[in-house]
Amino acid sequence: MSDNNFNLSPDYYQILDAADRYAREELHPLWRKMDEQDWYPEHIMTQLGSDGWLGITVPEEMGGAGMDLLSQSLVCQAFHRWNHSIGAIAGAHDNLCVNNILRNASPAIVEKYIPDMITGKKVGALGMTEPGAGSDAVGSMVTTARREGDKYIINGRKIFCSNGPFADVILMYAKTDKEKGAGGVSAFVVDANAPGFSVAQNLPKMGWRGQHTGELVFDDCEIPVENLVGEENKGIAVMMSGLDIERVYCSFECLGMAERAFDLALEYAKDRKQFGQPIGNFQMVQDMLATMYTIVESMRLMCYRAATVFNYLEKGGGGRGTEHKLSAATFLHCGEGVTKVTDLAVQIWGGYGFITESEVNYLFRGARLMTIGGGTAQIRKIIIAEELMRQ
Ligand SMILES: Cc1cc2nc3c(=O)[nH]c(=O)nc-3n(C[C@H](O)[C@H](O)[C@H](O)COP(=O)(O)OP(=O)(O)OC[C@H]3O[C@@H](n4cnc5c(N)ncnc54)[C@H](O)[C@@H]3O)c2cc1C
Repeated sequence: MSDNNFNLSPDYYQILDAADRYAREELHPLWRKMDEQDWYPEHIMTQLGSDGWLGITVPEEMGGAGMDLLSQSLVCQAFHRWNHSIGAIAGAHDNLCVNNILRNASPAIVEKYIPDMITGKKVGALGMTEPGAGSDAVGSMVTTARREGDKYIINGRKIFCSNGPFADVILMYAKTDKEKGAGGVSAFVVDANAPGFSVAQNLPKMGWRGQHTGELVFDDCEIPVENLVGEENKGIAVMMSGLDIERVYCSFECLGMAERAFDLALEYAKDRKQFGQPIGNFQMVQDMLATMYTIVESMRLMCYRAATVFNYLEKGGGGRGTEHKLSAATFLHCGEGVTKVTDLAVQIWGGYGFITESEVNYLFRGARLMTIGGGTAQIRKIIIAEELMRQ
């Protein structure tokens, strides 16, 4: 593995190292079957729970690991080196859902849902995107929730929901006041067994296979009023703060995948012989390796800096200002970085890199998501530019 301990204190390095060993031994053997068959390993969440890899940011007195965002992100980095499909199952659960509930929901909701999510008995997901509301997630949102007595009735659809097809708990957003725009959005926790909830489809994907992504339907879906997260019409702070944290976290996803692609490419360049010598002797191959190395190192710098800043993000913080710009820039650089690094890895592997069963090909297909999900590269640039112009 490349110089992965840069700037990490011994405690953090131990987390990265332990997660790396675990992922190499337990998760890496599963990637091929997941990729080839779109196989979801049913046992994986309870295994991760019992092995202590879920609820990383949940305080110890609640049964979690009591660690910070950087620690959670280092686990993410290691998992994504060895099996990004499982890394993403754990990430959608632990960061997008659990961490968001923990930061924003009432103690009663935290107590009701989090213990079973730490053990992996219940799997979490985040539902923001809709069929007609992608980049314009708030402005075009048509899912509504109206209060009726002690219930909210939710109507609408959410799409591209990671873990959605098998999730038990969905943190989702809906409009509680359509006239108020961003000021009319609320956040809710929905139980998958709530009346009126269903899964419309599991979407077949070019990458991240075995990590299922689906379309969810809320058809007069009834949830108790207690499942409102934060205050009614104040969901935008939950959403924007969560998105900024997600962008930092997802940057580590990119980093782990890029590190693995680089290692595979370097190994291959030393091993593969043409014209009677290792292809790594050729300067044009060396050019690719040097470019990859430089990109990976710069990704790591931005990741570690951003997570260190976000360790101190106050509840509801982010969504604008320095952190908003930093998380968008980190994810922009890391998303474009992993796209380039995996592309070069395929190039170095030549024809074997084009074969779908090679690991560099699996990484290349997975990397294609990283300038689309969590806000596209274009939206990340808009955020950065808007913040620069506001200063
Ligand atoms: C595998 C996968 C997993 C996902 N997981 C989740 C999840 O767990 N939860 C969730 O809520 N969502 C999830 N998403 C959704 C993801 O966040 C959206 O796909 C993303 O925000 C883009 O929305 P869109 O696909 O509707 O594209 P669109 O918004 O329709 O964009 C299409 C193109 O237009 C460009 N564009 C749009 N607006 C502008 C503009 N103003 N200026 C310049 N260019 C623009 C975009 O950059 C893009 O190139 C996931 C998506 C995928 C593919």
